[in-house]
Amino acid sequence: MKRANAVEFSENSKLGGMSTTYAAIGSCPADCPFKKARACYGMSGPIGWQWLKLGGRGVDLIAKDEAKAIDGLSGMNDLRIHALGDCSTNEAAKLISAAAERYMKRSRGRSTAFTYTHAWRNVDRKSWGKVSVVASCETAEMVKEAKARGYATAVVVEKHESDKAYIRGLRLSLARNRLAAQNLALNVASVCMTTN
Ligand code: SF4
Repeated sequence: MKRANAVEFSENSKLGGMSTTYAAIGSCPADCPFKKARACYGMSGPIGWQWLKLGGRGVDLIAKDEAKAIDGLSGMNDLRIHALGDCSTNEAAKLISAAAERYMKRSRGRSTAFTYTHAWRNVDRKSWGKVSVVASCETAEMVKEAKARGYATAVVVEKHESDKAYIRGLRLSLARNRLAAQNLALNVASVCMTTN
């Protein structure tokens, strides 16, 4: 069974046209609230049908296959690692960051590689190397914890009243995201990048 795949140019509305990867759900951390609630947007609709066809166990084996898939991409577009999936071990993040660095090298500086992760508690920021990685958080306390681990952060909020919104002392910048709106089981309306 295929564990991961990569798409040269995805027109998925969440991505807006770039290269991307999908890794089997076995790559996702067990404590991801969207996984636990079966509320991840990848679990339904046409995208879910494609994603859930990926299988196989072993976070690091999935990452190895995903790294190979990244090596098959041209490097001509920005790369969103993990439209779905994650790296929940340091070894997996190192495999993917090494492939992403090869990708950026192929692009001769034209493309960048970035991702979000729910596994920031278990994976060191340094394992992601030059990949731009944002820790996905659900509370202000988690934001502080992720920042202390060296991560940039994004937080899910119930309401996004303005671009200058604050949540429990954290300043937010606008990053409305369909991902959150689709996760209705968690009753969220938007995802915001934290700026302090
Ligand atoms: S939100 Fe991310 S980490 Fe969580 S189940 Fe979905 S793809 Fe996996």
